[in-house]
Amino acid sequence: NNVVRLCVMGDGGVGKTAVTTQFVSNHFVHYYDPTIEDSYRKQISVGDKSYILDILDTAGQDELTAMRDQWIRSCEGFVLVYSITSRSSFDQVLHFREQIYRVLDRDDIPIMMIGNKSDLINERQVSYQEGKELSQNLGMSYMEVSAKSRSNIDEVFYEAICCVKRK
Ligand code: GDP
Ligand code: MG
Repeated sequence: NNVVRLCVMGDGGVGKTAVTTQFVSNHFVHYYDPTIEDSYRKQISVGDKSYILDILDTAGQDELTAMRDQWIRSCEGFVLVYSITSRSSFDQVLHFREQIYRVLDRDDIPIMMIGNKSDLINERQVSYQEGKELSQNLGMSYMEVSAKSRSNIDEVFYEAICCVKRK
């Protein structure tokens, strides 16, 4: 089976939709609609293998836990997004990670943590080093990215596939 289902999670406004859209359709969304929630498909090749990525771009509030649990159960890999311009979104990464572990109740879940908006250097609230340390402590892959400049966007999804296939 070459379909890999990924779930993109994180605080509202961190750029989940922008990262996903930049990867899938090569354009940057300027407007912000916190309610958009959709899934997207894209075929990509890694080495000599071809995969279909099925990406669930989540939105909305914590009260919808039952629904969130369903998303989590339906996915093989996770991309946890924070914004380097928002300390609180970085703190929320732990919360999302806990939710995933609670629902799936197993070890070794492929999770990537990404710090988005790396183009906004003057508004940075979370250092690269802090992100790296947290990700290493929790056994997650880590990158800083920018949906706006398309920096490291393809790399996130390549790495996510590799995380899933490694486990
Ligand atoms: P979501 O709620 O996590 O899906 O956030 P969105 O993808 O809708 O992005 C929220 C806002 O941040 C939008 O106005 C985006 O244009 C903006 N944004 C997203 N990614 C970036 C980025 O990498 N750089 C900058 N400068 N703005 C971004
Ligand atoms: Mg969104």
